[in-house]
Amino acid sequence: MAHIKFFEQVNKNFDKAVDYLPHPPGILEQIRNCNSVYHVTFPLMRDGGKVEVLHAWRAEHSHHKLPTKGGIRYAMNVNEDEVMALAALMTYKCAIVDVPFGGAKGGVRINGRQYSKHELERVTRRFTFELIRKSFIGPGIDVPAPDYGTGAREMSWIVDTYNAMTENDVNAFACVTGKPIPQGGVRGRTEATGRGVFFGVREACEFADDMKRVGLEKGLEGKKVVVQGLGNVGYHAAKFIQEGGGIIVGLAEYEGAIYNPAGMDVEAVVKHRKNSGSILGFPGAKDLKASLEALELPCDILVPAALENQITMDNVDRIQAKIIAEAANGPVTADAGDALQEKGAIILPDMYLNAGGVTVSYFEWLKNLSHVRFGRMTKRFEEDINKKILKTIEDATGKKVSGSLLDRISRGPEEEDLVNSGLEETMINSYNQIREIREEYKKENMPLRTAAFICAINKIANSYQDLGIFP
Ligand code: GLU
Repeated sequence: MAHIKFFEQVNKNFDKAVDYLPHPPGILEQIRNCNSVYHVTFPLMRDGGKVEVLHAWRAEHSHHKLPTKGGIRYAMNVNEDEVMALAALMTYKCAIVDVPFGGAKGGVRINGRQYSKHELERVTRRFTFELIRKSFIGPGIDVPAPDYGTGAREMSWIVDTYNAMTENDVNAFACVTGKPIPQGGVRGRTEATGRGVFFGVREACEFADDMKRVGLEKGLEGKKVVVQGLGNVGYHAAKFIQEGGGIIVGLAEYEGAIYNPAGMDVEAVVKHRKNSGSILGFPGAKDLKASLEALELPCDILVPAALENQITMDNVDRIQAKIIAEAANGPVTADAGDALQEKGAIILPDMYLNAGGVTVSYFEWLKNLSHVRFGRMTKRFEEDINKKILKTIEDATGKKVSGSLLDRISRGPEEEDLVNSGLEETMINSYNQIREIREEYKKENMPLRTAAFICAINKIANSYQDLGIFP
């Protein structure tokens, strides 16, 4: 397979939206470009004393809103093109879900599985130090988050290093999101991207007309689903989709894939993989040694939740799913996307579908700046009001509300309830914004991705205009 330039792919998709936009070419060029890229190399002393030189990048794609925002990934295919593409996707993603940030992304070229915890800690702290030195991190500058190969643990090393290096910054905890709760994290962040994928898929399935077009019934219930990747995003997406009534018929990881048309329990598969060290050999399921073959399994919904460029011109003809739900960033190349669109499939684009992570990162950042847990000021007050309302209803009707129901409806919201409902509202609202644009151009068979770009570019162009940069 020829090397696919990822940033070029993103811009190819961007260009498809340009014909529908009224903005002058200058403003579109400014939006399209990646504003700044920092490439740094630094030495890592391995546990045995050997020294290795690592390459790392941070790209800030757009500064129309600050801070810029986006994850840091640890993977062997990290390179400049990739971080620029992913930073661009972050810009559009934030605009779509009305998160007031510019887009950024970072990465270290390293296979995290081959390094000890102490080595990874040294890598993370050193990279953070390099970012501080060049002003590529800060609560109002650029705020990293977890991505492929990183998680809450790495984020707590980042915040600790930032705290140690900066003085008297009361907002220092807002320098990174996806932190553990005691380190200023917000409840619900870990699950947020996967939960957002579920909300997006469920909403898309709610439109009977759209489902009819691809030969499916309305609703997620009973739909057969294949998920590629059981990392944080894939695992949570699969889990919530299963809880929402979808049937998980296929699951893929890097060591292989499993298939059972009758459905598999996600938790049981995860347990099996933990115990045996492999996804293969799950009772009742058929093994596929070539992991990529999972993408070609018969199903209604395919959720690529691993890395970019998974569905290409090489395998697109064999994809059977009617709905491709892009939980990963860039899993379908631009050409393969066109081919799927022609076949009549629906692609739920990454820049919308996986925006749940950054949405809840925004909530975490707000929490860090306000220095108070969501719900702390209002929970008990709301509970008291709810109890008074219920008491009034009981007095007026002469009927009693049962104990368990009383508890359920009078309960004031916890932080996690607020985060999850804020996320649900965002995902539903944003889908409807994109779908409405798509409906305007229905006759032209506009893909949802182009509609998503139109939605994002309009918002970004407006903010440049508000800044007075363009007439
Ligand atoms: N890495 C995630 C993404 O690609 C989250 C970014 C963030 O929360 O800043 O959307």
